[in-house]
Amino acid sequence: MSSIIVRFRSKDGLFRLSGSTEQPLAVLLDELVQTKLPPLDSSTLEAKSKNQLLDPLKTLSELTFANGEMVELSYSKASGGQSISGKKSEASRPIAAANVSSGSTKDKANRVKVTQLAIDDALDEDKGLIPRSRSTFCRHTAQGMCEYCSPLPPWDQDYHLANQIKHISFHSYLAQVNSETNKATGGSFIPPLSESDYKLKVPCPSGGHEPWPKGICSKCQPSSITLKRQKYRMVDHVEFQRADIVNRFIDSWRKSGVQRIGLLVGTYDKYDKTPLGIKAKVEAIYEFPQMDWDDGVALQEWEQENEVMEIIRMLGLSPLGVIFTDLNDAGNGDGSVICKRHVDSFFLSSLEVIFATKWQLKFPNACKYSENGYFSSKFVTCVVSGNTSGEIDMEMYQASETSEALVKANLITASTHPSQVFVNKQDDQRYVPDIMYSIVNEYGLEVKHNAKPSFPVEYLLVSLTHGFVAEDSGIFTAAGGDFPIENRSYLGEMASMAHLKDYLKSGEIANFHIVLFLCQSGILSGAEAALLCRAVTDVAAKTQLLHSSGWKSLQTITSLS
Ligand code: ZN
Ligand code: ZN
Repeated sequence: MSSIIVRFRSKDGLFRLSGSTEQPLAVLLDELVQTKLPPLDSSTLEAKSKNQLLDPLKTLSELTFANGEMVELSYSKASGGQSISGKKSEASRPIAAANVSSGSTKDKANRVKVTQLAIDDALDEDKGLIPRSRSTFCRHTAQGMCEYCSPLPPWDQDYHLANQIKHISFHSYLAQVNSETNKATGGSFIPPLSESDYKLKVPCPSGGHEPWPKGICSKCQPSSITLKRQKYRMVDHVEFQRADIVNRFIDSWRKSGVQRIGLLVGTYDKYDKTPLGIKAKVEAIYEFPQMDWDDGVALQEWEQENEVMEIIRMLGLSPLGVIFTDLNDAGNGDGSVICKRHVDSFFLSSLEVIFATKWQLKFPNACKYSENGYFSSKFVTCVVSGNTSGEIDMEMYQASETSEALVKANLITASTHPSQVFVNKQDDQRYVPDIMYSIVNEYGLEVKHNAKPSFPVEYLLVSLTHGFVAEDSGIFTAAGGDFPIENRSYLGEMASMAHLKDYLKSGEIANFHIVLFLCQSGILSGAEAALLCRAVTDVAAKTQLLHSSGWKSLQTITSLS
């Protein structure tokens, strides 16, 4: 006896249920009617597969269902009104005697057309098997293979423990859930991922009761939530292409004593320190328009957002994450800073986790293995703060997929205690399902705790590793050390044509802040700005740019300033 997934297509949507191959189809149909479908006249229910009417009293194996089998449903909705709080209505009767009908070919139309990042397409092609060498238990020839030396799947837990890798990579996780979901051969492909959804369904799919708070039933109510630490991470490692990217960012604090926030900009690549890993390669930091204080920052309206994002795109780069400082001089006169974030306080406060989550929701991750074409986000959050030795250090985090769903459903709020997250109270606008979190107690037993009114913030966090490349590399080869960074007028730093003079003369323009300034100067045409972005990595484009009329105007203007 084994368990398979059966899909049901109806005028009210596509549903998936898993069932034992020895169960009659009627059991699944019954479950569907009880929990998923609007109240219906069960005498009209028909189920078909491959255009054949199905006998609901036959078992799934008698019906020769493959994993992922698609069943077409037709029915008439019940007349008359209906129910609240999960009670069955008169109309939604079990249907052991239902006639089953309607049908079509194997479902392809439901697959979402998704354009993934190149890195995801590349990793989709990779099996990520972990090779092992011949062991002392092997009793075979050099060509042979046995259970002691055959390669391990990319999600192998012991391998990750032995190599002190805290989280498996997203693609290892995907390979694991895919192998579980689509293990049976012959069935059509089932998307192994679906994004968590903790929202009340409005209007109720049953159509039979008034909206919350007047009514609720099992069809519109989100199920209860158990918070667990997320075992995978969407990005494994963050790598800075030059040390001065971070140094110049931290300089803003050194010069002013107030905190700073910026956008990490770069590309993604394979990360070979973990199976099917991804690293974010940081090429530059864009500094947002912001208000800064010694205890925090506030983003201001970002009028140039579309313009800046377009320049980033023309450079062939993506927004990778945010970076912010939380630095306070320790007052020792030796440049040491206070260590505020540690195992006994917090790493990322609940306020910061919700902030990070909102950024992630702004940058969803396209994924063709997810039901709706998206799954979580690759956007990271980086904190620059004091480590336990009083040195300036960085830590990288992501909020979990659960955190994204909790924020989307407006279920959590930051607490004044930074290590705790508040669960919002239920009210007329908001239904709050049961939320639990599990901890391992002093006897090594897993115990569930109620997450209301608050729960530890680490249930929503994953941590990433980070590093610098050994030798400065990346696309921005011009140091641009004295060229002012955008939005720093509070430090008296403002880029002008005069700052450009030397860079234009030497042709050393491969610097993010210079490119940004030039593109926004209004002197280059749109086509010339695009050419400039290409010229950062393309010599031919650069030659073309240097002969453009916009460039000649720039040279004239800078020579006058
Ligand atoms: Zn062997
Ligand atoms: Zn309902």
